[in-house]
Amino acid sequence: MAHIGIIGAGISGLTLALLLTEKGHSVRVFEASDLPGGAIKTTRNRDGWLAEWGPNTIIESSGRIKRLVSMLDLEKRRYYPDSAAKKRYIIRDGKMVAVPVSLMELVRTPLLSRSAKFSILREPFRRRAKNHDLHTTDAPETISSGTDSSLSRKPGRSEESLAGFVRRRLGEEFLKWPIDALAGGIYAGDPERLSLRHAFPRLALLEEQHGSLILGQIKGGVRRPPGSDEIPRNKAEIFSFDDGLQVLPDTICSRLGDSLSFSSRVAGIDMITDPEQGRKINNDDACYTRRWRIHFVNRQEPSQEFDKIVYAGTAYGIKSITLPEKLSDVVAPVADIPHPPVVSLTLGFRRQDVAHPLDGFGMLIPGVEKFPILGTLFTSTLFPNRAPDDEHVTLTTYLGGSRQPEIAEKSEDEQIKLVIASLHKLLGLHGEPLFRHRILWSRAIPQYELGHGRFLSLMDRAEHDHPGFYMAGNYRTGISVGDTINAAFDLADRIDRDLNGPASGANR
Ligand SMILES: Cc1cc2nc3c(=O)[nH]c(=O)nc-3n(C[C@H](O)[C@H](O)[C@H](O)COP(=O)(O)OP(=O)(O)OC[C@H]3O[C@@H](n4cnc5c(N)ncnc54)[C@H](O)[C@@H]3O)c2cc1C
Repeated sequence: MAHIGIIGAGISGLTLALLLTEKGHSVRVFEASDLPGGAIKTTRNRDGWLAEWGPNTIIESSGRIKRLVSMLDLEKRRYYPDSAAKKRYIIRDGKMVAVPVSLMELVRTPLLSRSAKFSILREPFRRRAKNHDLHTTDAPETISSGTDSSLSRKPGRSEESLAGFVRRRLGEEFLKWPIDALAGGIYAGDPERLSLRHAFPRLALLEEQHGSLILGQIKGGVRRPPGSDEIPRNKAEIFSFDDGLQVLPDTICSRLGDSLSFSSRVAGIDMITDPEQGRKINNDDACYTRRWRIHFVNRQEPSQEFDKIVYAGTAYGIKSITLPEKLSDVVAPVADIPHPPVVSLTLGFRRQDVAHPLDGFGMLIPGVEKFPILGTLFTSTLFPNRAPDDEHVTLTTYLGGSRQPEIAEKSEDEQIKLVIASLHKLLGLHGEPLFRHRILWSRAIPQYELGHGRFLSLMDRAEHDHPGFYMAGNYRTGISVGDTINAAFDLADRIDRDLNGPASGANR
């Protein structure tokens, strides 16, 4: 039986471990901290307040995500928001404006001027990108994600920023309000720096396949490969669990039992070359190997050997692991993927202290509106069990990101003042918080900026040149929890094929 070592018990490493175990492989997961879940953590206090540290929702973007929930018998604990929470707000001219969801609403909305609305009618006739719209990237690009497989390998090429694309197809006003708000809400990122192809591949594909975003939507969106169980974004539901998202990693953890070690920070990985057992790969004498040895920061913890090794830690963490020299030369730059700081601040209030009905998912704030916050989720509207009772509410606000990294570094008291002042203006908040929970993520979300393809190519090369070594995580295959789960399914199949499949497999 093959032994597989996985470094990191975030949702990527945990899902992969569960799936490989289900396929009959022997797996061990090593986690540096004393809790599973990585960015997914939930705090509940005795008075009944609940706060998420990182994500609040998972988008059910494929049948595989549903399958994971059912494999774990978690269907009864899964909550979808009720229809009252579907409304989404964007701030325009200091006011909350509901995002239009029908043609009539679009015609009437104050979110866009009349000329911006007309630009939607002109969008199908806009030209595709020309060379002068593109930024040159210095390396061949690869989209290696299973979810983005339809955008597979591209030769070295130029690419366009999200901002450039939206300006070209829909105009400046779309960029300044809805799109800037969206980039802040999803990536805490800057649309001028985010790569369209890597950060929003579906928009790139709509243009590529249909020549137009609007026509593409009318024709049913991005074409899915045959057999794909992807659920189109406009139909995919979001969900959480009765006790918050941490239910998911906790349940996987209990399934894995003692195959999981906490407080096991991996310090290094060695290749064990054994010309007797191994076979020569790529005509390189250094590659007579099939085994890997992991050793730990805690020297009391004995090193362990595996047939395959998966690095499912953070992008920036790869730098602190000692790797075989040739592998290190290839993957070390991955640590340079930018991760701006983000603060997640959950505050609890009496319902009567908030004038706004909080009838929605939350609000996003474009940079042009000059607020010190990125946006706020109406968390107790979204899901039950987030506040002690109906007389109380929770609001989760994000600060910092690429837009205002300096705000993430301010003290907790200063940040609370900034948030309360913003919520006062936008939601008619009066009164002091009865509950507060703040987490600073010094390196929060990997930014898929222009040139991100260089990092993807390096990871592909590392795996190709070092059979038996794999990389998984939000820096590679999409940043959302849903993306990482989908990618774990793909990787589990790949590793299984490499172990059991045809002898010609590159990673055997
Ligand atoms: C503030 C915030 C809000 C977010 N909101 C959402 C949202 O609403 N919806 C959504 O879908 N996504 C959201 N995301 C993104 C999503 O949560 C992450 O992209 C996803 O959880 C990443 O999972 P991962 O397993 O790839 O990485 P991580 O969660 O980063 O896990 C990596 C794990 O590896 C461990 N590790 C690292 N180095 C070592 C080592 N040397 N040895 C052993 N272990 C190691 C780490 O301790 C960590 O536990 C949010 C993220 C943040 C930060």
